[in-house]
Amino acid sequence: MAIYERIADVPRRRYRVKSPVTLAPIGEFESATPDEVRAAVERARKAQASWAELGVKDRAAYMWRLLDQFVKRQDEIVELVIQETGKTRTEAIGMEVFACCDAISFYAKRAPRFLAPEKRRIHGLMGFTKRLRVVYKPLGVVGLITPWNGPVVLAVNPLVQALLAGNAVVHKPSEVTPLSALLVKKLTEAAGFPPDLYQVVQGDGQTGAALIEAGVDKISFTGSVATGRKVAEACGRRLIPVTLELGGKDAMIVCADADLERAAAGALLGSCMNTGHYCCGTERIYVVEPIYDRFVEKVVAGAKQLRQNDAGESDVGAVFWDQQMEIIESHMQDAVAKGAKVLVGGRRNPRLAGLYYEPTVVVDVSHEMELMRRETFGPIVAIQKVRDEEEALRLANDSEYGLNGNVWTGDAEKGQRLAERMETGGVCVNDMAITYGIPEAPFGGVKASGVGQVNGAQGIRGYCHVHPILADRKGKGPIQGGYPYTRKGEDGMQKFIRFLWGTPLGRWLA
Ligand code: NAD
Repeated sequence: MAIYERIADVPRRRYRVKSPVTLAPIGEFESATPDEVRAAVERARKAQASWAELGVKDRAAYMWRLLDQFVKRQDEIVELVIQETGKTRTEAIGMEVFACCDAISFYAKRAPRFLAPEKRRIHGLMGFTKRLRVVYKPLGVVGLITPWNGPVVLAVNPLVQALLAGNAVVHKPSEVTPLSALLVKKLTEAAGFPPDLYQVVQGDGQTGAALIEAGVDKISFTGSVATGRKVAEACGRRLIPVTLELGGKDAMIVCADADLERAAAGALLGSCMNTGHYCCGTERIYVVEPIYDRFVEKVVAGAKQLRQNDAGESDVGAVFWDQQMEIIESHMQDAVAKGAKVLVGGRRNPRLAGLYYEPTVVVDVSHEMELMRRETFGPIVAIQKVRDEEEALRLANDSEYGLNGNVWTGDAEKGQRLAERMETGGVCVNDMAITYGIPEAPFGGVKASGVGQVNGAQGIRGYCHVHPILADRKGKGPIQGGYPYTRKGEDGMQKFIRFLWGTPLGRWLA
């Protein structure tokens, strides 16, 4: 049963989307053609010119109005997201409304400061004669390509940053969740955004590829490693900047001195939140031998309490689409065939008609298994026993991915030390990975998990050309070091080098 399926190729590719909760059709969409994508970028470029002329504070006023829409229309957003993804109500509110409100207000409030022109002091003697000012100029039109696991927040967070920085945005949402993007578009319209400043082009991978070729000035991409490589290649050919927020295989290390109750709760939430469709989801757990049995016992007890329902209160939602279900099932089959033991769950939920996989606890896993090597993206708590923290760290770092990770210990200093040795973009101590929701923390992966960092001052400035303007303080008289070149001038320069970098006083001045 396909959650989205191609129902026509002619005159263009047309898709039908079903809800993973009910498996009933909820909408259809057509892929924009490359010409339509190009036309959208051209319209965006026209809209961007006057948008860039507004000051950041004026642009922020639009964002405050967008925030009003989010606050007022919470229920509409939540209902649509649940219908389209099958995530739980708590997750729809927390991830898709709360996190969006937080991002919009964070950047609307701070963008004027983050993007204010800066005077920068010039080092050494040049500082006496030159003046440097740095201004943050928009890039132009940003192409935004997003995945399905956070269909509203993963669009809105980069969108508000790119817009506040003075750009226009053309957005290609995931074909699995096209309706959420249309709702975001409607919210921006209701907030009075200028026409064509933010456009949504629906479609599949080919449409995303067409967007990169359509004349945009930057691509902000969130998605899988495999697609990220293609996007990077295409942006490389076009010589446009790109940020790649890609997949992960986050490890959790549980030390002997950890608060086991909290760590077990963190393992369950980290692994099962958003049905495990979380780029920083906890996918591998390494627990040291002395506390292994007690930890597993607590996790099993907690997992058995998790509720999975398609209506009313529920802790673990649906798998958002069928292809992810296939990956989850194949990783679990491979793990069991290689000796893993399922303690809880381990199958589709037979009680529910929709696309549900039971919250699962699996032990006796190893790095021979797909479950511990590839991104599973499912509600699976996979636990491996290790001798000590060093072995845990070695295994945690034995991955092609490097997005986030977490360390659990009662010793704060040890937590910091272990965290620093993790080969990941970020780490949490005594907490599941929540870095994406904290804009002060630069977010981005290392190894195959991505290129570039987003969020915060650094993130919003990533949507700008950082434009240095260097002025001579006097602006008149002879140019220092100018023509004619003379032997006397050369001797003077060499003397000066000997003084500046050959004496303690000179080095201090330099
Ligand atoms: P995906 O790579 O299949 O698709 C992402 C987007 O790229 C979609 O809109 C898709 O249509 C588009 N696309 C596909 N082929 C393309 C091409 N050749 N050129 C341009 N665009 C193309 O990823 P997905 O399955 O939608 O999302 C899940 C993945 O996203 C997971 O790996 C997850 O870890 C990752 N993710 C990462 C982060 C992060 O911040 N690091 C956040 C959320 C999700």
